[in-house]
Amino acid sequence: MTGLGDLAALLDAVTEAQAATTEGSMPATLLLLSLEGFKDIKNSVGHAAADRVLVTVGDRIKSAVRTHDVVARLGGDEFAVLLPATPLSRATAVGHQILAALEPTVDVGTGGVRCGVSMGLRAAEPHHSAEDLLLEADMAMEASRNEGRNKLKTFDPATLHERQLHRQMVAELREAIAGDQLVLYYQPIIELATGRLEGTEALVRWKHPEHGLIMPDRFIPIAEESGLIAELGRWVLRESVEQLRRWRQDPATVHHDFTMQINVSAADLQSLAFVDDVREALAASGLAPESLILELTESAIIQNDELDRYTLMSLRRLGVGLEIDDFGTGYSSMGYLRKLPVDRVKVDRQFVRELGEDPSQLAVVAAILQLIRACGLDGIWEGVETAEQAAALRSIGCTTGQGYYFGRPVPAQEFTATLARQRFWLV
Ligand code: C2E
Ligand code: CA
Ligand code: CA
Repeated sequence: MTGLGDLAALLDAVTEAQAATTEGSMPATLLLLSLEGFKDIKNSVGHAAADRVLVTVGDRIKSAVRTHDVVARLGGDEFAVLLPATPLSRATAVGHQILAALEPTVDVGTGGVRCGVSMGLRAAEPHHSAEDLLLEADMAMEASRNEGRNKLKTFDPATLHERQLHRQMVAELREAIAGDQLVLYYQPIIELATGRLEGTEALVRWKHPEHGLIMPDRFIPIAEESGLIAELGRWVLRESVEQLRRWRQDPATVHHDFTMQINVSAADLQSLAFVDDVREALAASGLAPESLILELTESAIIQNDELDRYTLMSLRRLGVGLEIDDFGTGYSSMGYLRKLPVDRVKVDRQFVRELGEDPSQLAVVAAILQLIRACGLDGIWEGVETAEQAAALRSIGCTTGQGYYFGRPVPAQEFTATLARQRFWLV
């Protein structure tokens, strides 16, 4: 369609250029670029017009380079340019020329479209195979993507090391999930009017054999990126439900409507299997679906395409509780709140933090509470660290709180010991 070579042609050209490079001669340089937001463009203008964009992009790249440079399309919206025997300064200049050539909008009949471009540059080293060179150009392109649009990034060898560390962490995390290195800590959730224990939130930690206890903020993002999150989520689900079953079996520990809250990642919502996992975990434990509450962040729900919505609806039908987590950060879709299929909103701890520091903050919290109530929902307030904060929340009618003031997250055994001692908390 674009009349350009494909991946195989590019790899051949690199191999050839590498063979032609002798000691002291100029190395070849590979430029790799991808069109950002091309998928959205395709969705909005249709396939035929999107193909025209690709053809135009190919033509513009060709017109910005010399005839013996090799331009290829690697599939999708990715293009590559191989500049044989080219000094780095010249290759960089060509890269910028291409970026400039792609700047003007492309006419698709119904109007003009413009794509952002991520571009990576890697000069070949004598040891490079074609695949290695492509991989490192790709890493540079990734760096460009992370920095925002239309920037040319040159490969930085430090990223190789980082990538190595990252790979190692992914491998270790995979083992951790399969082995028994993950643990759940439990934090009490308290009814503010009475001090009664309502339930607990399960928070995952990684007991690393060398590095000790690793907090979720450090490994959840890696699990999400690497696709391990589904397995991690399944483990959390099973373990937390099983723990709840154990507590329920012993009436000396928890009352019959004590609930378990777990954190669910956006990726989990995108998997149809997740609903089955929840159903199975509940069935295996014999617990009522209402005993389990899933915490989802706003962004996870709002990102939702149809599949997510379907998953949410299926979870609803299953009867588990659904709660928005970290409300007030990110999108804060006030108007949207009413339409979301959730039961409760957990307000981000930043709002409670400022209680007691700034007198006007109580009015802000009261307003948020009113908003949540107006949407037919209830709020839960996290990050309660002091008696003053707890009292302030109570004074304006907040029903539920969670935070270090009531208790830090602790391992199951410790939580059990607390349950044996007390059923009520000082508010
Ligand atoms: P989150 O869901 O907002 O969890 C609350 C975090 O605030 C927890 O940190 C908790 O230890 C901490 N916290 C509780 N009370 C207080 C307080 O009074 N003051 C302060 N400053 N902090 C308090 P943690 O355990 O490090 O978890 C961090 C995040 O990791 C969680 O934020 C959640 O987004 C994620 N996470 C934790 N466990 C899981 C899990 O099993 N699955 C997934 N997908 N994410 C998880
Ligand atoms: Ca949470
Ligand atoms: Ca939260």
